[in-house]
Amino acid sequence: MDLKLLHAYLNLMYRTVLHYLRRLNPFHQDFGKERFLTNYVPDGLPPASPAQRGRRREAGRCTACNACDQVCPLLADRLHTQFTGPMAFVLSGARAAPHYADAGEELALLTSPVCTDCRRCEAECPEGIPILSIAEDAQAQLHVIRQAQDRGAT
Ligand code: SF4
Ligand code: SF4
Repeated sequence: MDLKLLHAYLNLMYRTVLHYLRRLNPFHQDFGKERFLTNYVPDGLPPASPAQRGRRREAGRCTACNACDQVCPLLADRLHTQFTGPMAFVLSGARAAPHYADAGEELALLTSPVCTDCRRCEAECPEGIPILSIAEDAQAQLHVIRQAQDRGAT
């Protein structure tokens, strides 16, 4: 038998046995969800609840009709020059995995009283997309990421 293949098989057997032995240890936390959280949350991949995933999927109904931007007072008054508007927020969330770190300022605005006291974009959306609820979910997930990063830094 090829020695490299034999080595690979032995290594695989060793890892398999080790894996199950470690799982038998009730005090070992480095498995399953705990391991996922440790490895991926600081990199910007937080867990999402079924409700959060459902709301995110609703963004996929966006037809880019621009009705939400048309009624947004922030865009009309150009008060926040960095803010690209609710349509861009919904489209970016619907077409790709969110890049939470880059969306920090936008999420802070969309979850602030400026928006939660307004909600005109949601009321105008013909698809009934819960724009601000999606922003609240993303803000909560950004908080989870920052907490994990802070824990990793200490
Ligand atoms: S809730 Fe915010 S984003 Fe939506 S229309 Fe009002 S100011 Fe614009
Ligand atoms: S109003 Fe609704 S469907 Fe139209 S662009 Fe805005 S989020 Fe998309």
